[in-house]
Amino acid sequence: MDPFADTLQRLRETFSSGRTRPAEFRATQLKGLGRFLQENKQLLQEALAQDLHKSTFESQVSEISISQSEINLALRNLRAWMKDEKVSKNLATQLDSAFIRKEPFGLVLIIAPWNYPVNLTLMPLVGALAAGNCVVLKPSEISKSTEKVLAEVLPRYLDQSCFAVVLGGPEETGQLLEHKFDHIFFTGSPRVGKIVMTAAAKHLTPVTLELGGKNPCYVDDNCDPQTVANRVAWFRYFNTGQTCVAPDYILCSPETQARLLPALQSAITRFYGDDPRASPDLGRIINHKHFQRLRGLLSCGRVAIGGQSDDSDRYIAPTVLVDVQETEPVMQEEIFGPILPILNVRGLDEAIDFINRREKPLALYAFSNNSQVVKRVLAQTSSGGFCGNDGFMHMTLSSLPFGGVGASGMGNYHGKFSFDTFSHHRTCLLRSPGLEKIYAIRYPPHSPRNLRV
Ligand code: NAD
Repeated sequence: MDPFADTLQRLRETFSSGRTRPAEFRATQLKGLGRFLQENKQLLQEALAQDLHKSTFESQVSEISISQSEINLALRNLRAWMKDEKVSKNLATQLDSAFIRKEPFGLVLIIAPWNYPVNLTLMPLVGALAAGNCVVLKPSEISKSTEKVLAEVLPRYLDQSCFAVVLGGPEETGQLLEHKFDHIFFTGSPRVGKIVMTAAAKHLTPVTLELGGKNPCYVDDNCDPQTVANRVAWFRYFNTGQTCVAPDYILCSPETQARLLPALQSAITRFYGDDPRASPDLGRIINHKHFQRLRGLLSCGRVAIGGQSDDSDRYIAPTVLVDVQETEPVMQEEIFGPILPILNVRGLDEAIDFINRREKPLALYAFSNNSQVVKRVLAQTSSGGFCGNDGFMHMTLSSLPFGGVGASGMGNYHGKFSFDTFSHHRTCLLRSPGLEKIYAIRYPPHSPRNLRV
């Protein structure tokens, strides 16, 4: 018995009926999504607190407001985005109409992770609905409380003939992936990204893969250590380090490390107090499995700051590790927790070489008072996104595409990029049925005279 067949059949029939194509229908769905956020703000905040001990501030800023802004942007621009895009023409098509039509793919699947369980389900959903698709949404089974709200409450705000939430972990998602979709948008680990892409290949389904990896953060000797420490500590420990674009490790000289350590300690104490465990602004590790994995990483190198942990509430203190070797586990896997190793390099060349010997990261950061240093890191490396002299601020702009490159993913989204990601860009040329005398020049038999055209 296939648990998904009926749902998928229903959504396919809706898409074939053309119901999701008009701008009015799309706008109604987007408004419904907005109402879901407004009317269930508290419910969502409670669920996020249960899943991740997320503070109200973090829930509001990084989950609810950002999703609401995305909806508002799509509503303001929907008709402009849907418009056919006229293109330039060559001599042979001067009398024709040539344009790109953005048409919905059809039935799309969105698979989401647990770390920003509202943001990372709703942001792609906005793009998929704005583009006129029918959508199957598969939230993460690990962020259980949020999954429950998304499954039980969200469908009430959307047209259920074109939208469905399905639940499950690896096994159920594997079954779901056996079906044919017209596009799959996956956010998660590179390991599961490969499983998704392999399943999609069987149906030649295009995929967007928003993956993770190790994001380097280069800190130049020419910097103000306290400013750098404030910014790095803020974005490393935001959401308890469980952020795909968080800096995974710092590269700097031993001299800069010596200046950074007291500055990082000072920033951590100011942000979370003398006992970070009591801070309402520090979250917890999502589950026991991840907690055990992270606790194992605390034995790499030497703990310079923090290092305390308690499995009774999956607490890990904001931690900085030094004397870390490249070969240790903390440098072999994405950390995805509140642990920040510092590795020493002798200058910019060695840092760039270190970065380029590894997979292309999702995000790359460089801090320096010398803009030439930041520009060199940008010019001589590659990553999904880059931010000079701060943390993930680049991804707050909906005017910039957000996505990875190489092992950190393929494709991108946010703002109009989401609309385009969920649209087929159809090549269109409309020609007059007349004017045959002019067009006949291309038909055989050919003569040298034809070649002059
Ligand atoms: P994950 O890959 O384990 O799971 C993601 C989704 O895939 C979940 O919905 C899960 O149910 C499903 N899944 C898990 N195993 C599966 C399998 N064997 N077959 C089919 N589906 C399966 O990722 P996660 O632990 O939820 O999230 C953490 C990862 O996601 C990190 O690597 C992080 O960097 C990455 N991430 C990336 C972004 C981004 O925007 N690029 C954002 C957030 C998280």
